Amino acid sequence: MDPVITRFPPSPTGWLHVGGARTALFNWLYARHTGGRFVLRFEDTDIERSTPQSVDAILESMAWLGIDWDEGPYFQSERLPVYREHLQILLDTGHAYYCTCSPEDIEAMRREATAHGGKPRYDGRCRNKQRPASDDAVIRFKAPATGTTVVDDRVKGPIAFQNSELDDFIICRSDGMPMYNLAVVVDDITMGINTIIRGDDHVNNTPKQILLYKALGVPLPLFAHVPMVLGNDRSRLSKRHGAMSVTEYREMGYLPDAMLNYLVRLGWSHGDQEFFTRPELIAKFSLDNIGKSAGVFDPAKLLALNAEHIREAKPETLVGPLQPFLKAHEVTQLDRRPMDLVIATLQPRSKTLVEMAAGALFYFQSPIVYEDKAAAKFLKPSAQEPLRQLTTALTQLSRFDEAQIEGAFAQTMEATGLKLGKIAQPVRVALSGKTVSPGIFEMIRVLGREETLVRINQALAFIEARAAAPP
Ligand code: GLU
Repeated sequence: MDPVITRFPPSPTGWLHVGGARTALFNWLYARHTGGRFVLRFEDTDIERSTPQSVDAILESMAWLGIDWDEGPYFQSERLPVYREHLQILLDTGHAYYCTCSPEDIEAMRREATAHGGKPRYDGRCRNKQRPASDDAVIRFKAPATGTTVVDDRVKGPIAFQNSELDDFIICRSDGMPMYNLAVVVDDITMGINTIIRGDDHVNNTPKQILLYKALGVPLPLFAHVPMVLGNDRSRLSKRHGAMSVTEYREMGYLPDAMLNYLVRLGWSHGDQEFFTRPELIAKFSLDNIGKSAGVFDPAKLLALNAEHIREAKPETLVGPLQPFLKAHEVTQLDRRPMDLVIATLQPRSKTLVEMAAGALFYFQSPIVYEDKAAAKFLKPSAQEPLRQLTTALTQLSRFDEAQIEGAFAQTMEATGLKLGKIAQPVRVALSGKTVSPGIFEMIRVLGREETLVRINQALAFIEARAAAPP
């Protein structure tokens, strides 16, 4: 069997949004799953709206998501000779013709048709006039007036369109720019695309494209139209349903793997499994389980999935992704702490990398800054004794691992007659400045003996200064 060749053809008129990313993902996954190829192509024939900034933004988002391509990126604007060649074939074989009807003529036809209760359509006036090419001539496709065109959709099943409903649509503008339906078909043919997975907002274009394939004498690709992604009020997804661009999620501290996992579930399922790693997705993705109903975008679900991916990640894989978020807080010298251990202590309590960075700050602060309430409640004279005892116990440890650190606390409990909480809370504030932090033993291990003792001494000095001059 021929290898599967899929494509992603964004129009570079803005950033990569959630719906577009899902389309890219489905095509990429299907190519990877089958050992096929994935082609990237920019549909930039709309010169006014296409920008190089959008191209860069889309490339950057795809790189972040880890969706790589085997061919391209192609640019339609660089392929005009290829479209010309195919337009000429259509003209030569009588499947297309030049039309010089003016916008006023077309408007009059529309009015006429609607006045009689019909659909506004071109009436075929230039069809058999053999008009020559000219500056004001568009090229129209000679669509069959009768019969049906069936889209044999892999997701939706067969969908029949009456040819009488499709008029002689324009395939090339008078300025020589091909229209979408022509360019897309020529590209898909010449790039060997045999599998087209896209949003079902394109379903109505498909019969026109099928007619073009037939006119060019080329076998049809497989079409799979995926239901659109909707907002939670079931309207078309837009900004008011939450962040829509992929880069916004990167900036909010989401992991690309969580994003992929969430996007794939907006239209595909594998039993009731919700959590997928990237290799699992590649292994399991198929066109069989693409759903027939629209996926509903739920930012809360995405956040929960992100938390899960953060929890499940190997700590060392998060060092790089976390770095820019720490840098935003001016933390740059990461080698001051064992980063994989820092991250491991924060994984269970961070839903995003933004939260993780905020949670990690105290590891790098020196001297530590206490939250007022925390200091007032726990850094009191009654904490001096346990803090001193713990200092002694920690100093004596032969190894500085979590078990031994726990032992130092047990020793302090015994020496002071205090319960663990009474000792741990002042220590927590001394080390992190806060009342909420990672587990006390793991935190001490990450800070290391020297830094832990520095911080406990800082707290003792603070308590003494307060006692001498109460605030
Ligand atoms: N450029 C089109 C879009 O962004 C591609 C449509 C297609 O997949 O054929 O919607």
